[in-house]
Amino acid sequence: MKPAPFEYHRPDTVEEALALLAQHGWEAKLLAGGQSLVPAMNFRLSAPGVLIDLNRILGLDSIREVDGALRIGAMVRQRVAERSELIARAAPLVAEALPFVAHPQIRNRGTMGGSIAHADPAAELPAVMLALGARFHLRGPGGMRALAADEFFTGLFATALEHDEMLGEIEIPAPAARPGWAFMEISRRHGDFGLAGLAMSVSVDEDGKCDAARIALLGVGEGPVLARGAADALIGAAPGDDAFAAAAEAARAEIDPPADIHASSDYRRHLVGVLVARALPVAFARAAAGGRG
Ligand SMILES: Cc1cc2nc3c(=O)[nH]c(=O)nc-3n(C[C@H](O)[C@H](O)[C@H](O)COP(=O)(O)OP(=O)(O)OC[C@H]3O[C@@H](n4cnc5c(N)ncnc54)[C@H](O)[C@@H]3O)c2cc1C
Repeated sequence: MKPAPFEYHRPDTVEEALALLAQHGWEAKLLAGGQSLVPAMNFRLSAPGVLIDLNRILGLDSIREVDGALRIGAMVRQRVAERSELIARAAPLVAEALPFVAHPQIRNRGTMGGSIAHADPAAELPAVMLALGARFHLRGPGGMRALAADEFFTGLFATALEHDEMLGEIEIPAPAARPGWAFMEISRRHGDFGLAGLAMSVSVDEDGKCDAARIALLGVGEGPVLARGAADALIGAAPGDDAFAAAAEAARAEIDPPADIHASSDYRRHLVGVLVARALPVAFARAAAGGRG
């Protein structure tokens, strides 16, 4: 299949891209790495009348630290992020999850911002951002606004982005004093979208008790799902078998996964319990070691 006809624009600046978005409204789509949009257009699942290519715009692909927080430009290629020493040090959960995103050839083109804006419920990066409590810096005609990941993902392939806005930068807060993390997923073949998966970020206090936990699940809802009950079962508890079993049970109980040709709802629920139980010892061992992976 070939895409439906479309107008193509290749602006040089963010301002030009925003002006084009404002002019064409919902008819327009931004083109980043094209690894989700172009297949969707070829299958005619998406037929934008206007494509606005972000690839010529300078300055959207930096990886930097600002006041202790990590900032990743929307056009940073996934493969570049995977190889970044700064990301590996400041946000090791991102580095751990990236090899699960598709295949290297796709990550060479696919962008960090494109994956987040696309908001596929089975994608790794939205869950990672939710687990890390990331904030997204959006650019629009009125300037900038920042939104927490908790508010950004609003449903199936849906986000809080308005038609005249673009994602400019991802902000990941500085890690806690004793951080732990883990990313795990189960897929039929490495590189496939996961049947279910999780990204978790935890920390412990000076006595070794859990003082923060965020567990984001993928593949089990309309978007990334924050397992709040599982986190509540951990906070204040001493990490160990009892707390881990309670968290796994809470995670199983609080989700209502979809069924499709790849897996039943019950099987996905079972996988979540298994993954939570497997990932918690890994994350808390890292926290106990002072954040060393
Ligand atoms: C065979 C195959 C396997 C894949 N497997 C996986 C997988 O296992 N896990 C996974 O997560 N992904 C997978 N992907 C998708 C891949 O990760 C894409 O790179 C990613 O989803 C989209 O990033 P992109 O830069 O290519 O965005 P594009 O395809 O260019 O755009 C995707 C959407 O985001 C919008 N968009 C892009 N950038 C911005 C921005 N800055 N601001 C606002 N909106 C924006 C576009 O308008 C479009 O609607 C796979 C893709 C293929 C082809």
